[in-house]
Amino acid sequence: MLDFAIIGGGPAGLTAGLYATRGGLDNVTMFEKGMPGGQITQSSEIENYPGAIGEVTGMELMSTWPEQCQRFGLKHEMVGVTRVSKNAEGNFIISKDDGTSEEAMSVLVCTGSTPKRAGFAGEDKLFGKGVSTCATCDGFFYKGKEVAVIGGGDTALEEALYLAKICSKVYLVHRRDEFRSAPNTIERLKTTENIELVLNSVPDEVYGDAMGVTGLRVKSNDGELRDLEVPGVFVFVGNDVNNEVLIQEDDSFLCDMTDWGEVKVDITMKTSVPGLYAAGDMRIDAPKQVVCAAGDGAVAALQAIGYVDEKVNH
Ligand code: FAD
Ligand code: NAP
Repeated sequence: MLDFAIIGGGPAGLTAGLYATRGGLDNVTMFEKGMPGGQITQSSEIENYPGAIGEVTGMELMSTWPEQCQRFGLKHEMVGVTRVSKNAEGNFIISKDDGTSEEAMSVLVCTGSTPKRAGFAGEDKLFGKGVSTCATCDGFFYKGKEVAVIGGGDTALEEALYLAKICSKVYLVHRRDEFRSAPNTIERLKTTENIELVLNSVPDEVYGDAMGVTGLRVKSNDGELRDLEVPGVFVFVGNDVNNEVLIQEDDSFLCDMTDWGEVKVDITMKTSVPGLYAAGDMRIDAPKQVVCAAGDGAVAALQAIGYVDEKVNH
């Protein structure tokens, strides 16, 4: 039986692997369906990981993390996990997509989340070249410049307010004239001078040149086209939390979740189920940053060490 099973090998999972093995757990396996590193490996530049100075790609940042963990004994199995469940003895069963399963005393689920794309022309082609789904990551690249934000939910409005502090102007493009967001956020949006609301409009096409995005064409609901000359377009049209592994045979979740599918944890990354932890982008109130996911992973591993010790020795 495993002492600790880690599901997902992004910054949260790898850091948990480092802390768990270095902290004395002997039998720790990280189940990762692809190459370890997580979604940051898709990023062409990361400027806000402490200590990473200069032009560092996500791939470069993550390249040494797996080896560091393996030196302390972390095992990596390249396999997709289909479900984490509990058995009658109070241990966890990790079901894998090759049909096999493992038993573990404690589990960390850190399978991340995936921002949705809106589906307009040029969005995929220019993703990472001016189209972004992360204001904290990329907002600074547009300091003093104009940007567009797509969406009308809490995320779009909060990120538009964040960007308005960095950028000279923010166009908020929303397909209706009503927002899904909290009333006080809407009020702040409407009273922020450098945010222009472009309502009843959808993105028609984002276009650019070899350097990246140069503009966004929007189409109003009555067919009028307008060009916004922006080098940055931020898309916030919802988020898929990768929580499938927690869904049980009867369609319930193994632990308590928020209404929008994030795992509820306390500040020590404990879920509502003893021995089960969640970390990184999939947990409630996640800032969705590498440094935060790594911190969560460390916290969860330290908790798991105590949990396993208690189970084995007391
Ligand atoms: P992830 O990194 O998403 O890792 C989850 C892992 O779980 C993945 O490797 C996945 O393959 C694996 N997995 C999922 N389901 C299963 C399963 N069923 N079985 C097995 N494995 C599974 N953050 C910053 O701090 N600064 C930035 O500049 C920045 N820029 C970004 C740019 C881009 C293009 C993107 C996409 C993200 C960026 N981020 C940035 C955000 C950052 O990448 C995430 O906050 C961070 O990676 C979250 O880490 P995580 O470990 O929670 O999840
Ligand atoms: P969301 O509430 O689903 O909002 C998505 C927005 O994008 C909606 O305004 C939607 O328009 C628009 N949209 C969807 N698909 C589109 C498309 N293809 N083209 C153009 N626009 C499109 O997502 P979210 O803002 O990420 O929030 C997710 C959940 O997290 C919500 O429950 C939210 O309350 C919560 N959240 C809470 C906080 C907070 O409490 N501080 C912060 C962030 C998120 P329509 O409105 O017309 O459908």
